[in-house]
Amino acid sequence: MRAAVLYSTVPAGTSYGKAQPLVVQELSRPEPRAGEVGVTIAYSSLCHSDLSVVDGSRVRPLPMALGHEAVGRVASVGEGVTDVSVGDHVVLVFVPSCGSCRACRAGRPALCHRAAEVNGSGDLLHGEALLRTPEGERINHHLGVSAFADYAVVARESVVVIDDDVPDTIAAMFGCAVLTGMGAVLNTAAVQPGQSVAVFGLGAVGLSAVMAAALAGASAVIAIDPNTSKHGLALKCGATAVGTPDDAARLIAEAAGDGVDTAIEAVGSARVIASCLEHVTRGGAVVSVGLPHPTAELTVPALQFAGAGKRLLGSYMGDAVPNRDIPLYLGYWREGRLPVELLHTDTRPLAEINEGLDALAAGQVVRRLFQA
Ligand SMILES: [Zn+2]
Ligand SMILES: [Zn+2]
Repeated sequence: MRAAVLYSTVPAGTSYGKAQPLVVQELSRPEPRAGEVGVTIAYSSLCHSDLSVVDGSRVRPLPMALGHEAVGRVASVGEGVTDVSVGDHVVLVFVPSCGSCRACRAGRPALCHRAAEVNGSGDLLHGEALLRTPEGERINHHLGVSAFADYAVVARESVVVIDDDVPDTIAAMFGCAVLTGMGAVLNTAAVQPGQSVAVFGLGAVGLSAVMAAALAGASAVIAIDPNTSKHGLALKCGATAVGTPDDAARLIAEAAGDGVDTAIEAVGSARVIASCLEHVTRGGAVVSVGLPHPTAELTVPALQFAGAGKRLLGSYMGDAVPNRDIPLYLGYWREGRLPVELLHTDTRPLAEINEGLDALAAGQVVRRLFQA
């Protein structure tokens, strides 16, 4: 099998096309163990959190085969897997929820304790890492998926079976971008018809949040990004107003008076989270979706919580229940209510993955898909 492996981090600001931090190489092809499935990857897509692993701001054990958003077909099933069959069309999910920990029992599989543990160590839910170089060196799995590859062995819990006829180029984006952005609006904030929403950061997750806010019937959807090339796309996704951070206060005042009901922070910046708290009305909620640097600290006026009823909510993987939400969101796409195709910028061979990192860092692409 072939996969893209990160051996050492390369700081942000470097030309990844020159530095080639991801090495596309042959690995020994593992077979699924009990509770696992082998998946032939059709497309994987490059997400900002892959970039954060490459530049070291999201610390992961190396070497690691990266990639966590993908679609494919089941190629083989391990012992005890009875509800997934060879040939099934599957979206990969980056939290292999165990079903029995405290979070899973509470109906919050995105926060699975066991998944957080194995994702942190680069192992799989049902056993230690399987990936090896031909020389026998262990390669860690990225979030139980490692999808920048032509093949992956993953836990049964890392796949959601979808309809056969959904195009791969659409389905590829549901496992991270769509699930995270949609879930932040529909699950975490539970936006209601007629409410106002502002979305800060118009990457694939932010644009998915814009689509979700429009779908939920928000009366105003204000989309903010310093990169003005994202603004037209946000309008197509359902934004009612677009602007740069300098425009945010004016646009919000025009559309929502003293603040929006919900502000979605999809940048991963403590400073932007703090500004979002100023942009929500009394009783409003800020949803923190982007992943700030682990050393970043947040300083905000403390009175606005008890004094104005404001809420600051964290949302990991959109508080999703993937088995419920991926088919639900695909249904919205099928009904023409969720124009996910707008997120797909282009498709390239896996050999060009490092150049893809540069394009993503520069904000030139929303979702670039890769084919091994
Ligand atoms: Zn992602
Ligand atoms: Zn669990």
